[in-house]
Formats: sequence, C-alpha cells, structure tokens
Amino acid sequence: MPDIVSREVRSRMMSGIRGKDTKPEVVLRKALHRRGFRYKLHDRNLPGRPDLVLPARHAVVLVNGCFWHAHEGCPYFKLPATRPEFWRDKLMANRERDRRNLSLLQDAGWRVAVVWECATRKDFDSTVDQLEGWLRGTSQRVDVAWLQAQG
Ligand SMILES: [Zn+2]
Repeated sequence: MPDIVSREVRSRMMSGIRGKDTKPEVVLRKALHRRGFRYKLHDRNLPGRPDLVLPARHAVVLVNGCFWHAHEGCPYFKLPATRPEFWRDKLMANRERDRRNLSLLQDAGWRVAVVWECATRKDFDSTVDQLEGWLRGTSQRVDVAWLQAQG
C-alpha cells in the first residue's frame, strides 16, 4: 500500500483536523444550527470534550479528522512515508483514546454520533440529512462516513 501522498492531499489531511475549531466541525455545526439544532461546544465535563453536545437530544456529536483519528480504509487516512512507526503508534493511541471516551460517554447515558471528516467533504448534504435523522430519532450510536455511503 503506498504511503506517499501528494502535497495537496497531505495539506488537505492536515488542514482542518487539528485543534478544536477545525473546519469540518465548523461547517457541520453551522448546518445543524440552520436546521434548528442548539448545542454546547467542547463540554469540559464530558469525556474527551465532545465537539457538540445536544442535551435536549441526549446526544453528543464527535467530528473526527480522518488522519488524526486513523479512519481505516479511508482515502484521507494514509500513514506518512516519513517515520511511519512513530505515526502508527501515535495514531493508534489516538484511536484507543477515542474508543475509551466513546464507551465512557455511552456508559454515562449519552447517544453518540461519530461523523468522519470524509463525510463532511464528500456529499455534505446527505451527511447532514443522516445526522439530522439520527438526532431526531432514538438510536444510541451512528457512524457517518463517506465510505459507508459508498456501500
Ligand atoms: Zn474518512
């Protein structure tokens, strides 16, 4: 499997997926706001400080950058060619932390949606549709990813 990605792909992977006001998260929350949803951002009292918290829906939404959260099988996730062992360890640790936070949130009674960056970059409207449907429903868990939509 090729590890080398072009500079544009790399900068796309790195952009908007670091820090807390990352771009996929911002576009997603603005779209939800337009559809009437209200939320808190990065609640410090919850495990992992989830990106969006919707108390009225008993729901949290995690927007995961595909690179930093090691989205397996995703075109936005390629292990860098330089120092691959370092990156593998780092990204696997991120993924382990995600798993832990997710189960802590669910144990605390929260419904949890994970929206992957790829789903916000491809086919954005249907991503928001899917998330809206889940928020208005009662299902405990959803993962929204572009690859999933590819079936
Ligand atoms: Zn992805």
